Amino acid sequence: MRDNFEFDVNGALLDWYDLHARAMPWRVGPADRASGVRPDPYRVWLSEVMLQQTTVAAVRDYFQRFTARWPTVEALAAAPDEHVMGEWAGLGYYARARNLLKCARVVAEEHGGRFPETHDALLTLPGIGPYTAAAIAAIAFDRPETVLDGNVERVMARLHDIHEPLPGSKPLLKQRAEALTPAIRPGDYAQAVMDLGATICTPKSPACGICPLREPCRARLTGMAPELPKKSPKKPKPTRYGYAYLAGRADGAVLMERRPDKGLLGGMLGWPGSDWSETPVETPPFEADWQVLTGEVRHTFTHFHLILHLRGAVLPDDLEPDGLQIIGKHAFRPSDLPTVMRKAHDLWRGQ
Ligand code: SF4
Repeated sequence: MRDNFEFDVNGALLDWYDLHARAMPWRVGPADRASGVRPDPYRVWLSEVMLQQTTVAAVRDYFQRFTARWPTVEALAAAPDEHVMGEWAGLGYYARARNLLKCARVVAEEHGGRFPETHDALLTLPGIGPYTAAAIAAIAFDRPETVLDGNVERVMARLHDIHEPLPGSKPLLKQRAEALTPAIRPGDYAQAVMDLGATICTPKSPACGICPLREPCRARLTGMAPELPKKSPKKPKPTRYGYAYLAGRADGAVLMERRPDKGLLGGMLGWPGSDWSETPVETPPFEADWQVLTGEVRHTFTHFHLILHLRGAVLPDDLEPDGLQIIGKHAFRPSDLPTVMRKAHDLWRGQ
């Protein structure tokens, strides 16, 4: 067996990428890149923020809608908060949407609408952590930064047959990935490793037979590939419970609350409700004959499962709710709601 480092891993990967790069709406493919087309940093940044903890398939439509509505960072910076939060609804992790707007405004107002090019300068922008800074610097500006996402971790663990479990093995995987990051075409290389992990070196059944790295890959030889990377066992998620109150008028108006900026679903519209805990207390927003709706809403957040019990009532015409909003029929778009609130809406309307 030849050593990994005698084999031209970068060359093999780039050759493979030239033929098999995935087409993505934010990507400049290798042929265009070679002919001098440069990626738009705004589109690279937007896609990277959307892709944090979400899949390419889930992001595609959101990305197309965002860029059709706000084609530049200046246009996004000038958008009203509620329009952006509404378009983001359903993508989850709403702090990202708030940081997205903050970042667009900083770039528009303090950087003349141009994203900074270096990893360190990118890191100073709202919502951009080390991973995203590396991804933008590499993909948008072709800088030799090491981009370590789940796909790259998997490829590195297998290529080097690393058995130490994640997340403890992250520094070692990063070190291995850094050693392979090339000075030539680093942007294409970063995307090539991610594509390899997403399409060939997949979690359960890697297609080693058609992989450009099959020769140097150690886990292929040891037969360990499908079991890598190993992961430390996760703690089971707790379950919390809550009540949500859905009230509507005959003219289609509904009673909603804008959630506080900080915290879960921050800044999003939702149904008024109780705390979410093991033993929530019923806290209806006004006195009424609240009906117990059949069924329950189940939703899983990063750190817990939620089971919501729903109550429904008629919204009085003269109600002036403290801290809540009455949203008229034409201003109310269920698609603007975060997923858990939309599930509650659908259950309510179905009864
Ligand atoms: S040979 Fe198999 S395990 Fe190794 S990198 Fe390629 S697909 Fe992954």
